[in-house]
Amino acid sequence: MVNNYNRVYNFSAGPAVLPVEVLETARDEMLNYQNSGMSVMEMSHRSKTYDTIIKTAEKDLRELINVPNNYKVLFLQGGAHLQFSMVPINLLKNGVADYIVTGQWAKKAYIEAQKYGKINKIATSEDKNFSYIPDCSNLDITPDADYVYICENNTIYGTKYKTLPNTKGKTLVSDMSSCFLSEPIDIAKYGLIYAGVQKNVGPAGVQIVIIREDLIREDLPSWCPTMLKYKTHADNDSLYNTPPAYGIYICGLVFKWLKKIGGLEKMKEINEQKAKILYDFLDSSKLFKGTVEPASRSLMNVPFITGSDELDKKFIEESAKKGLVQLKGHRTVGGMRASIYNAMPIKGVEKLVEFMANFEKENYKLL
Ligand SMILES: *Cc1c(COP(=O)(O)O)cnc(C)c1O
Repeated sequence: MVNNYNRVYNFSAGPAVLPVEVLETARDEMLNYQNSGMSVMEMSHRSKTYDTIIKTAEKDLRELINVPNNYKVLFLQGGAHLQFSMVPINLLKNGVADYIVTGQWAKKAYIEAQKYGKINKIATSEDKNFSYIPDCSNLDITPDADYVYICENNTIYGTKYKTLPNTKGKTLVSDMSSCFLSEPIDIAKYGLIYAGVQKNVGPAGVQIVIIREDLIREDLPSWCPTMLKYKTHADNDSLYNTPPAYGIYICGLVFKWLKKIGGLEKMKEINEQKAKILYDFLDSSKLFKGTVEPASRSLMNVPFITGSDELDKKFIEESAKKGLVQLKGHRTVGGMRASIYNAMPIKGVEKLVEFMANFEKENYKLL
């Protein structure tokens, strides 16, 4: 409809758009991966060929975000949801942790962790439907807390931490599912980060965990399932059992794509450019309004409304007909949400804004 292969501009929050070049490479290698005579899907995860795929993926990722040597990179399964459990199971030593609740995913993690210890909610933005990131410069950190937990980019609400919380020396744990690899990160500021790759990196089914080695413990409760110990996976280079092999291969192609476009500094520049086009329009529009406090705005997920449920519905229907799809907001926010991840081209955002401007011209008078 709007570009090669009749592809639409896909603003889905996840699973989400992937780079066309990556999909083309996957297509070309589908039936016979580099003269192996088979597809990556059909290959033993113990084969030399696959070992090179997973090792190269890890190496490229380490290069992209400068992972320090005392951190392990793990490719796991179970989605971000399994990390809601694995984090407390593995990291609670004193049995106490502090959570900052800035949206539905942080809240779910906070509730799940309560099964394993005394979990404190030390800050929240629920009073204004999670439309901002609270001031975390001087929070009441619990003295014996094992870690402080955040969800760094709130996919549903479109907020992002611009400054990390002052954890007063405690280990910081971050769910980066929807902002991972959108800009450079200083890994050393965190004890553990994790990301479900289906937002910004690859196909659903792979979970990347980056963990400082001293947090990988052996002395876990005896009931702890082997598969839920970071140690199991760290000791086996993510090959304890069959990993999500094809998904990791696609992630590897995305890492190569990011390196080719100039790494994360460059990616950030492009992402800022895209977000600016959309936010500038929202700020000048008479009809559309962003739902997030400007200081907390995400580069990746941009929710907006018209103020009329009827017009929102009309917008979603008409935009889809123009090849601008998956713009419906999350049910808890309503309205629209444009997810503009790494692989969304600038052209897609320009087309969206052009459509919004036309829609405003035709519909503003009706309000
Ligand atoms: C999508 C998302 C989740 C949930 O991911 P699953 O892989 O479905 O478990 C958790 N946290 C964030 C920030 C997300 O964007």
